[in-house]
Amino acid sequence: MIEITRETVLDALRNVKDPDLRKDLVALGFIKDLEIRDRHVSFVIELTTPACPVREQLKAESVRWVKRIPGVETVEVSMTSKVRQSTADAAKDYLPHVKNIVPVASGKGGVGKSTVSANLALALARTGAKVGLMDADIYGPSIPTILGITEPIQAEENRIIPTVQYGIKVVSTASMIPPGRAAILRGPMLHKVLEQFLGRTEWGELDYLVVDLPPGTGDVHLSLCQMIPLTGAAIVSTPQSVALKVAEKAIFMFRMLKIPILGLIENMSYFICRHGERYDIFGHGGARTYCLENGIPFLGEIPLSMEIRAQSDAGRPVVHFEPDSEPAKSFIRVAETLAAQMSILAMGGSQGAAEETAPREIGQPSRKEIVLVWKDGHISHFSPFQLRLECPCAICVDERTGEKLVQNEAIDKEIRAESISPVGRYGIQIRWSDKHSTGIYTFERLRELCPCEVCRQKREAA
Ligand code: ADP
Repeated sequence: MIEITRETVLDALRNVKDPDLRKDLVALGFIKDLEIRDRHVSFVIELTTPACPVREQLKAESVRWVKRIPGVETVEVSMTSKVRQSTADAAKDYLPHVKNIVPVASGKGGVGKSTVSANLALALARTGAKVGLMDADIYGPSIPTILGITEPIQAEENRIIPTVQYGIKVVSTASMIPPGRAAILRGPMLHKVLEQFLGRTEWGELDYLVVDLPPGTGDVHLSLCQMIPLTGAAIVSTPQSVALKVAEKAIFMFRMLKIPILGLIENMSYFICRHGERYDIFGHGGARTYCLENGIPFLGEIPLSMEIRAQSDAGRPVVHFEPDSEPAKSFIRVAETLAAQMSILAMGGSQGAAEETAPREIGQPSRKEIVLVWKDGHISHFSPFQLRLECPCAICVDERTGEKLVQNEAIDKEIRAESISPVGRYGIQIRWSDKHSTGIYTFERLRELCPCEVCRQKREAA
């Protein structure tokens, strides 16, 4: 009987790469508690965030590789996570137990920054992360409305106790001001309020502190950037080129202050009517193209939706109250991509590392093809049918054997992509007309699958 050793198992797991961090699971130190009993192998994969977008794919691939070792009969994998600290030691004074601080900014008001901040915080918390939300939009605080918080803020012995709502800790100036009044604060006072929110608030241990900034580029931004080391900023924009021009100012400001840009979120991206028809009211894809051109991660699209508007105004955010709805799923996807970007920074990786493999353009010129133009000028024309059959998700591929489960006959030859959304900088997620949307196609894999004659011949030769 062949002996199964630790080394053979680890060697097998070296074939599984985290697409964001661009290293294998063993090199990343993610494999814990490896045990081998006769023909049974078990281990834990400890990820850098519970909101990892490729969690299931990493698990499935790991099982598949270990199962290939001669003699292995069963493989048991548990998934855990430990969010890594990206804030430097300087955060000790104000927020000693907060691992990541992520401001959400926009060039101008009304683009849905607060709605996005609140739903992202809730989406991160749903994965099991410990999350805080600080409403630093001091002149127009709307977080308590969006989250349905009506109680005034609590304080004990000069310390602010955050309100716990839907599983996240929240602090807002709105909870300090009587209804109908407005905050009239000059620069030095603003700084004081921030000091209170940061230094005299019982945040406790947090994996992520999301900060809803005021629109534009002003005193609060500068104070915050000076007071604490921020992990990186997420910028919210709508798709119009005018809105993107304004968002650019916020990006410029963070770059000047040496704060990494975690990415751009396109809110009010498209509208799906009751009959399922999609309308690109403000144009579409502007933010994605902007990101590709400027080397900024694209974090994803949030649709313009009646549910988001109505539920936010009623204090019933969609991510908490309708987590299975399409709008909620889009927030959850963005939150996962955002968490992945924070992990890249915390692990000392370069956000641009995955760039080499990213295509320059992704398009669907007709229903019959999906076209990727690569950075080296190579063009891949995929038929939607071919790509649908290559879906790598756990429903379409047997996680133990790697065998394709999706049957050619089961897929409509006329299938088309209803939407193509980027995932971080390393891949895309396609929503197919048969409503399937769980697979993440990495750029690396797509390049391998290129159906052109040259690539086909190369594959055969290899
Ligand atoms: P900001 O913080 O940028 O000023 P808000 O988050 O307060 O913007 O949103 C402004 C308005 O737009 C609110 O009424 C909100 O419900 C609505 N809104 C935001 N995002 C969406 C969306 N994706 N779909 C529909 N309505 C939205």
